Amino acid sequence: MSQRIFAAMMLKTYRSKLIAYSTLLMVFLCGTLIYSYLYARSVIVHEADNYIGRTGQLLESQMQYERNELLRYAGIVSDDLRIQEYMFIVMRVSFDREPLLRLYEKLFGWLPIDRKAIIGSKGELLVGDDAPDLAAWVRNQSGKIVERVYYMETADGLEMVATVPISYRGEQLGMVALSHRLNKVWLNDKRQNTGGQVFVVRDSKVVASSLVGGGGEQFIVRDQRIAMGGETFRVFPIDLPSLEDNLSQVWFGVSETKLISNLNQYTRVSLLVLAIGSGAMLWMGLMIFRNFNRPLVELMSMIEKITMGDMPVMKKSRAHNEIDLLANKFADMVHSLRNKQSEIDGIHKQLEESAITDSLTGLYNRRHLQEIFPKLRAQALRDWRILSVILCDLDYFKQINDQYGHLAGDQCLIQFAKLLKQQSRSNDFLYRVGGEEFLILSISSEPADSVAIAEKVRLATKESALLFKGRAIPLTVSCGVSFSSADDPEETALPRLLSRADQALYQAKEQGRNQVQVYGEGELPSARRDRHR
Ligand code: GH3
Ligand code: MG
Ligand code: MG
Repeated sequence: MSQRIFAAMMLKTYRSKLIAYSTLLMVFLCGTLIYSYLYARSVIVHEADNYIGRTGQLLESQMQYERNELLRYAGIVSDDLRIQEYMFIVMRVSFDREPLLRLYEKLFGWLPIDRKAIIGSKGELLVGDDAPDLAAWVRNQSGKIVERVYYMETADGLEMVATVPISYRGEQLGMVALSHRLNKVWLNDKRQNTGGQVFVVRDSKVVASSLVGGGGEQFIVRDQRIAMGGETFRVFPIDLPSLEDNLSQVWFGVSETKLISNLNQYTRVSLLVLAIGSGAMLWMGLMIFRNFNRPLVELMSMIEKITMGDMPVMKKSRAHNEIDLLANKFADMVHSLRNKQSEIDGIHKQLEESAITDSLTGLYNRRHLQEIFPKLRAQALRDWRILSVILCDLDYFKQINDQYGHLAGDQCLIQFAKLLKQQSRSNDFLYRVGGEEFLILSISSEPADSVAIAEKVRLATKESALLFKGRAIPLTVSCGVSFSSADDPEETALPRLLSRADQALYQAKEQGRNQVQVYGEGELPSARRDRHR
């Protein structure tokens, strides 16, 4: 497991490579997006600076032009000889202002101005009943009548005023004052000309602005910007010539929010594209992972199982891609390996069987006896039963061989093995331990049971002669029976048991063959007694 984690950390697996590369790509894409956003924003802000500077100056020169025009209009009025004469008459002869007003309307009523005033040298208002404030303000300028244009604060807001003295025959009679209001119409006109907004500000409050519904908001400039109505404006102060100190200020502003909102829109689209791109990339990665990595990992785990000695059944895929085809081939290989393995297992089993069985009779051989004996002995002791050996040796077998031939001898051996199977119990173990020597290993409750088996075998052998090539071959067997003793040490128990059986068999042979002899018949063991001992 730790090896896998190490491999993943060192980017050795495809999965870790895939994750690492797609993360890198996403970081790169996000970085590019953030950089392009910041760069575009700085370009836009820089351009806005340039734009606001240029447009602010343009507005200033427009206003300069407006002032020149107003001064020119005032100059035209003051230069007019009839106005001069009428004014002289009004002031010195008739004191009736009406003709002067009519004359003015007739001659200059067309002038594009908001208010007009013709004022005598002592401040008397001769023309312009709606402009007493204009007259008072002009009078307040310490009576110095000079040709000039400036801004003043009136009840309706800022007003541009041009004053020009009126003289008649070298004598100064008074002056003409024409004004132009910086009202809503003017502000809207400027907004249309410049594409930006114009604010009239007094005591950090907006008095009037070209914004729809604007007025009364805080106007606090920070870093050449103001925030107003959810927008940020970059602002530029417009220079106003004035005689007053605390005159309202005029600011020109361009909405930075609108400019940036376009960029934000673009960024949102880019983010969407990035999200879709990343999603597609992830999907592709997952597909690659599904199609490549998963089958490979499955294949690897199969190989691991096979290495551990297991032969798992692999499901075949119907897909036709290279990896699935490889996995299918592998499944075929595992299938044929499994078949081979079961063949080998069969052969192995056969070999094991043949190692412990006698090929002629199919009975067990000595090797099996040595393997099974300790288990049977333990079982007998545990169950308080008796483990016995019946050793059988065919009588005069050499003579049979000599008389009837070796083949007949073999048939005798085979037949005797069958007979042993018939006469013994199902849980007895049957052995061929020598040429014509056989052995029955059995567990019984009483010694008499084993002796009875031996007797049955002997009788059956005697009664069933072998028919070979039409001739009956008589056969007898001698048996020696012995019993295992609980006193025998484990390692010598089997040789002792066999040797005792051999001694009994020897006795049987000695006493004329075709009989059963029991070793130590005088004191046959009892399982319970044996156990107590
Ligand atoms: P006894 O009654 O004393 O046992 O006499 P016996 O002739 O049976 O004993 P002996 O040991 O002298 O002879 C055993 C013979 O068994 C010798 C051998 O030729 C024969 N024999 C051993 N193995 C085989 C075999 O596999 N097939 C055949 N046909 N004969 C065998
Ligand atoms: Mg023998
Ligand atoms: Mg013999």
